[in-house]
Formats: sequence, C-alpha cells, structure tokens
Amino acid sequence: MNEISGRTNVCSARFGAGASEGLGRELGRFLVTTMEIPWGLVKERLGAAPAQVLMVENMQIETIERQLEKVGEVDAVLGIGGGQAIDLAKYIAWKRQLPLVTLPTVLSVDAFVTPAAGIRRGHRVDYVGESSPDPLVIDYDVLRTAPPELNIAGVGDLLSIHTACFDWELAQKAGVSEYPFSQADVDAARQILATVMGKTEAIANCTDEGLQAIVDGYMRVNTLCLPAGHYRVEEGSEHYLFYELEERLERPFIHGWIVGLGVHLLSRLQGHQHEQAVAFMKEVGLPHQPRDLEIQKDDLRASLLALNYYVQGRSDLWYTVLNEQKITPAWVDEALQTLNF
Ligand SMILES: [Zn+2]
Repeated sequence: MNEISGRTNVCSARFGAGASEGLGRELGRFLVTTMEIPWGLVKERLGAAPAQVLMVENMQIETIERQLEKVGEVDAVLGIGGGQAIDLAKYIAWKRQLPLVTLPTVLSVDAFVTPAAGIRRGHRVDYVGESSPDPLVIDYDVLRTAPPELNIAGVGDLLSIHTACFDWELAQKAGVSEYPFSQADVDAARQILATVMGKTEAIANCTDEGLQAIVDGYMRVNTLCLPAGHYRVEEGSEHYLFYELEERLERPFIHGWIVGLGVHLLSRLQGHQHEQAVAFMKEVGLPHQPRDLEIQKDDLRASLLALNYYVQGRSDLWYTVLNEQKITPAWVDEALQTLNF
C-alpha cells in the first residue's frame, strides 16, 4: 500500500506481482472495458467472468455514447488496458455512477489515476467527468507483458514537469499567470521529477521498483494538481507541440514518446537544461525521436514554424515560452540536426 498523503484520486490501491489474481470474484456483476490484446492477457487471471465486455472502438463522443446505451445492469466497471480502455471505463462509471476499478496493463499514460476521462470531439481531446479508482490495481507481472518502451513511455508525463514548470515561471515573471503562482508546487513538482530520475535504471529495466516509481510519480502529481484545480506544473509548451502535430497529421501518437520529443525541442527553445533532459531520455530508454514516432522532417519543420501562431490562436492554452521566443527557420534548422529521422 502506498504512503502518499493528499488527494491522489486513488481511493484504494493494490500493488504487487499477481495483484490482479482473483479480482473478478470481488466485483459482483461487472462490466469490463478493454481491447483485444490486454483482455487476452488478463481474463484468465480474474477468476470470474464479467457480465459484459465492451471493446474500445474509438474515443469519439458519439461512439462512446452509443456504447453507453448498451450497458446493462452491473455493479462495477473494470477498465483493463491502456489509456483508452481506462478512459472508457471512467466515462461509463461517471455517467452511471458506478464503482470504478482500474487495471492498467501498460503505464504509457496517466489515465488510470486522473479523475477526468479523455474523449474526442472531432480532432480535439476533451476531458470530462470525474471518477476515482477503488481500487487501482497495479500488477507488475501484467505490466511486464507490455513492451518495455511502452511502460517507459510513462515517464513522458513526468519529464514534462521539466519544461512545464519553467513555462509557468515565465508566465509568472511576465505577470500573466492564469492561476495563482505557487513556488511551493513548482518546487514539489521538481522534487517528484528528481525522485523519478533517481530511479532511471530501475525504470529502464521495468523492475517492480521502476514501475512503481512511475505510478507514485503520477499520484504525487495529483496531490499538487487536484487541489490547485489545474495541471500547470506538468503541462506546457512540450504538450502544445504535440497538439499541433496531432491536428496537422491527424493521427494519434504514443503519448509519452511525443511528449519526450516536445521536451527535447522546447527545453532547447527555453535554454533550460536541455542536455540533462535529453541525457535522461537516452538513459531511461524513452523513445522520442521523429524516427520512433514516424514523423517526417518536413512535417516537423512545418509544425515548429507554425507553433507560435498555433498557440496564439488557441485561447485555452496557457502562456509559455512560445509566447516569448519566436521560432525562426534558422533555429528550426539547428534543432532538427539534433534529431534522428
Ligand atoms: Zn500528457
């Protein structure tokens, strides 16, 4: 059991190798939301068959609402898989006011600890509702069935603290912070990242300790962000590059990997400990190169050159380095030389 105090958004947690064994026997009539591969990995472990299984089709709101109508009488919702399967479970649990249990089979995104469900309206992601897992089940054996680089992707949304906190400080210095600036939260967030970076080898090897470090990092971020009511300490310009690329290329990415690319480029633009951030990604084995993400050089160049204008056109985005530093063709040429295509 974890010892993290504060609002983690996790009502109860069960951590350990084999933690999912027999879980189904405790849930009464339960609905599972999942995808083919995670379901194949986990169903025999549950010890009881679900009343209903919903496979993720896509995260468009129209699709999810249609699936919601098919949900019968159940006592609980069990989300099994990565971000989408768990977000579908969160959405249904919230809409039907049912207990939520989450069993992530990969740590690539923090969906299994955040309260809101990420759904899509058109090409934009929207976060809706509120739900908390009871329990969150972290079964290290299940997680290790996923490719290591997908679990390691989980550090992306923690490494983003590096650039996001710097962006918030810029906003504060410019006198335009959207929220009351909290130096204590910035310091605490940096401490969370430092703790994670102290476990680089364990994370790289996906040991129990390494996997737990990622989960603990997410829960600790929640203890800062939920009371504050925003995720400013872990979301900034590094995410905005991802938003632009996703709209431009109209395809999804492995979240932690593309956030890693954002940290690479935006820490460089910030002039903020770029080498350290890149060295960490290399040591921990976080894929973040355009080659890993199958992003062409011309597309990334166009995205970077459009980024200053992109953020100005979106009033929902916070003030970051992108409001202060103009991205020039010369800067882009130099930055692209540091990446692999
Ligand atoms: Zn993120």
